[in-house]
Amino acid sequence: MYKPTLDYAQQLDKEDKLAHLRAQFHVPKDKEGNDWLYFTGNSLGLQPKQTQQYIQQELDDWAKYGVEGHFEARNPWMPYHEFLTNSMAKIVGAKPLEVVVMNTLTTNLHLLMVSFYQPTKTKYKIVIESDAFPSDRYAVQSQLKFHGLDAENGLIEWKPREGEELLRIEDLEKIVDEQGDEIALLLIGGVNYYTGQYLDIKRIAEIGHAKNCMVGIDLAHGAGNISPELHDSGVDFAAWCTYKYLNSGPGSLAGLFVHEKHAHNKELPRFAGWWNHNKETRFNMRQPFDVMPGAEGWQLSNPPILSMAAIRASLDMFEEVGMEALRAKSEKLTGYFEYLINQIDTDRIKIITPSNPKERGCQLSIQVKNADKSLHKKLTENNIITDWREPDVIRCAPVPMYNSFEDVYRMVEKLKELL
Ligand SMILES: *Cc1c(COP(=O)(O)O)cnc(C)c1O
Repeated sequence: MYKPTLDYAQQLDKEDKLAHLRAQFHVPKDKEGNDWLYFTGNSLGLQPKQTQQYIQQELDDWAKYGVEGHFEARNPWMPYHEFLTNSMAKIVGAKPLEVVVMNTLTTNLHLLMVSFYQPTKTKYKIVIESDAFPSDRYAVQSQLKFHGLDAENGLIEWKPREGEELLRIEDLEKIVDEQGDEIALLLIGGVNYYTGQYLDIKRIAEIGHAKNCMVGIDLAHGAGNISPELHDSGVDFAAWCTYKYLNSGPGSLAGLFVHEKHAHNKELPRFAGWWNHNKETRFNMRQPFDVMPGAEGWQLSNPPILSMAAIRASLDMFEEVGMEALRAKSEKLTGYFEYLINQIDTDRIKIITPSNPKERGCQLSIQVKNADKSLHKKLTENNIITDWREPDVIRCAPVPMYNSFEDVYRMVEKLKELL
């Protein structure tokens, strides 16, 4: 149904109901003023133009009110994180009680493991994907060591089969079937950062829970990209950053999800600070610790408002467009990208991302035989921004918020030329 021509790509852009959104972002440009072809929204999303105004509002109120801004600012800082909760909950398919924005991703994973990784003498192992993002692997290894366990023996890797790139759910099932009595936690990337594979989160939860393992999901590459339906999936916890598909700026705060079934469990071990203490009595500073219900009960500190303002600017855009419309465009855009790559007449190229749109988000990971980093360098010199993973994979994410069908067309034309 697709056609490999510039005219056709431009026609798709004309028909695209979300095409106007691109103008609401700052798209970096080359010296001649042409937009870069930006395919790394999976690493750092572009800046919405309205972000500046949202941050400026808080700077103005800080200038105007000083400490009184906690209550007097147009968007009072005291409950500021609450302004983000509903939109964020919608993006990941959760109830507002289950979601909070706080800290950064790896920090949140640690805080969640304080509560949900409770190893015993016999049940202490952690399962991750063999291609887990390094930070998650380090986090999990350090948790094992923290509990006095051997990081090597305590870690089980869910691997693709020999000669394959993608994970098979039945292999996870086998691991948990055979070793479940020793496994305390599954911590899995919902969308794998390397292959772009979107795993069946609900199935993973069922597999883990059947053997009384806790199940946590890292949604760094999922939030704002796919619709994970966290509540219905039944996973115990999840965390994600907001600077990738959620366009909230470098190092911005992260999201945290704790399933409703744990919302009122005050017995869960957890770290405490004044910000997970009961809001009503927080400033009556002589009260004993009284933990808040839900995800808010994992906060420790009062949060950085300037960063939250950037998140708010972005979430307001997601709220307006809705994940459903974004997802629909995303499937078409990535589908077109895939089609064009498959048109290239060479056996050097292989897409390792699943071809089924239900098993991927917008990212395609393209393996180029006999290529090295010089290919990535040449793309960059042509203002095509992609991500290179050794030994031979280009990761490319056409983002439905701001990438066009023409972007994708031009990128593949250049790739063809360089090969
Ligand atoms: C991007 C990413 C991270 C980054 O962690 P930070 O704590 O935000 O630096 C961690 N895990 C995964 C899976 C990621 O994709």
